[in-house]
Amino acid sequence: WVTGYRYESTAAASDSSSQAPPPVEKIEYKAEVSRLMDLIVNSLYSNKEVFLRELISNASDALDKLRYLSVTNPELSKDAADLDIRIYADKENGVITLTDSGIGMTRQELVDCLGTIAQSGTAKFMKALKDNKDAGGDNNLIGQFGVGFYSAFLVAERVTVSTKSPKSDKQYVWESEADSSSYTIREETDPQLVIPRGTRITLHLKRDDKGFADPERIQKLVKNYSQFVSFPIYTWQEKG
Ligand code: ADP
Ligand code: MG
Repeated sequence: WVTGYRYESTAAASDSSSQAPPPVEKIEYKAEVSRLMDLIVNSLYSNKEVFLRELISNASDALDKLRYLSVTNPELSKDAADLDIRIYADKENGVITLTDSGIGMTRQELVDCLGTIAQSGTAKFMKALKDNKDAGGDNNLIGQFGVGFYSAFLVAERVTVSTKSPKSDKQYVWESEADSSSYTIREETDPQLVIPRGTRITLHLKRDDKGFADPERIQKLVKNYSQFVSFPIYTWQEKG
């Protein structure tokens, strides 16, 4: 796990000062998730840039869900009217942040969606990927399957997902390192990072992949991969 990472189990006795750090819960990935991440990182390294398409596609799905549910429940979108996707590139620090104002995830949904492989499509992908690898091929599997969220680890050494669902009054942070067998979940406590609704994904890029934190490069990828997304996608350069 991460050296210097502050880990506190919920059960641990905490000191009684009011500044006590929030509990961080460490959860093991289901075995198949670790396997999938391995396969993705080892098989798709020549196609790393797909991470952006996958994250935008998830953001777009989350916005679609929110929009759909808002038809019958206008309350859902009252806090933030704009349905959009914002990408911030911090070149200096090698960080990309992707924010959507979609449906977000509850704590349980974080565990179910990002800690297990629920999608049967993903299982099919895993098999095809493995068959392809065993055959020594480098076919364009990316075109046939969505690799999904874990493709973030193609370029990121650490991924942070901070998310707020209308179903929950709390915002939660999911965090994992590449090559880790576990992830953590904690409550978002930084008032500057609190969002009314949706999801903010932060990619701390691997040393060799920091070049992706470039708004021009991102815009080009967005144009190639995500031109049919029906929500506006904004790209910013974070001031250093
Ligand atoms: P898929 O998109 O095929 O379901 P992914 O691996 O891309 O598989 O994503 C897994 C799940 O995580 C999604 O189905 C969704 O429930 C959840 N998820 C991922 N990104 C977001 C997001 N930005 N907002 C809300 N939920 C998300
Ligand atoms: Mg997806």
